[in-house]
Amino acid sequence: MRLEAKELASLIETLRRDGYEVVGPTVRDGAIVYDAIEGLEDLPRGWTDEHAPGRYRLLRRPDNALFGYVVGPQSWKRFLLPPRVRLFSVRRNGDQPEIIADASAEPPPKYAFLGARACELAALAVQDRVLLGGPYADPIYRNRRQDVFVIAVQCTQAAPTCFCSSMGTGPKLSGGYDIALTEVVEGAESWFVAHAGTEAGAARLAALGAPEASPQDVARAEEAARRAESMITRRLNTAGLRERLAENFEHPQWDDVARRCLACANCTLVCPTCFCVTVEDTSDVTGSHAERWRLWDSCFTQSFSYIHGGPVRASIKARYRQWLTHKLSSWHDQFGTSGCVGCGRCITWCPAAIEITTEAEAVCGFPPSSLRSEQA
Ligand code: SF4
Ligand code: SF4
Repeated sequence: MRLEAKELASLIETLRRDGYEVVGPTVRDGAIVYDAIEGLEDLPRGWTDEHAPGRYRLLRRPDNALFGYVVGPQSWKRFLLPPRVRLFSVRRNGDQPEIIADASAEPPPKYAFLGARACELAALAVQDRVLLGGPYADPIYRNRRQDVFVIAVQCTQAAPTCFCSSMGTGPKLSGGYDIALTEVVEGAESWFVAHAGTEAGAARLAALGAPEASPQDVARAEEAARRAESMITRRLNTAGLRERLAENFEHPQWDDVARRCLACANCTLVCPTCFCVTVEDTSDVTGSHAERWRLWDSCFTQSFSYIHGGPVRASIKARYRQWLTHKLSSWHDQFGTSGCVGCGRCITWCPAAIEITTEAEAVCGFPPSSLRSEQA
């Protein structure tokens, strides 16, 4: 199906009318962030993003593309696994505590995600496995996740920080969406080739009454998608990576990276798969009301591994090693998949410009793949 901007606007409008909170990209504070979208005017029309290790900035595009950027600092996890959520509140009722609010019982927002990229859908699948697989599903995540309607957008450009093709997660969309859009820029404006991934997506597309995409339209969309693939220069050699990382626990590279790492936790907060949380209890001065909150935490904080008398991972070296080996090695043991989807956010948003790809390959003794591919 071929959609013009007005049909995309109508898709957003009908989703909102049907009770969805449409969340999509918008420009705020010099970045493209995900927030509630009311219409096309909220999208980052004519903006693009520039990425490098430790560097991000927005630039104007020469056209009015609506999705002409790569990825922002946020991921969809902030809506499904909120950074701060009140688990319950309790008040004193005589001698007995009485629960007056319980997050797992509250009606969840009904989200429609607009603009999800292939690596982000892979990250959602990883979080589904972590938070819904096994005997202990997270009720808050489950409630928020179950009715999400996903409108994915095919990447048509890539940043020098992207390495999704090494992780097998992109840039081509391969599932996990209700509707997939590929934006084709023509002159100053753009149009979309859309196809459905589910019956719900097909029904919504059919309701728009848009014409079928011609073979030429489809060819233009495929060409735009191939452009993103050809722009990816960063690689991560994953052959034997999991085993080599586990075998090189005392490699001197861990000391080297620890001298540069600030333990700021940025990499874990921007990562679409990191899921660690902590709980915090608060009570009022009268002792009659208390609340338990769940907050994002990070394995880079010293307090994260504190156990009766001291942190298990007291040094930055131990904490960086824990993070990287968990992502690329022990995540496989725990969840049967890599914990990294190659989105590159931890590289862009690291103030010390540390690159997970370079560090992992150095520890494993692999020649640096990205350098080699850039030289080729
Ligand atoms: S570890 Fe880095 S590149 Fe991998 S998914 Fe997380 S933020 Fe993205
Ligand atoms: S690797 Fe970079 S982003 Fe992560 S904790 Fe260290 S300095 Fe911060």
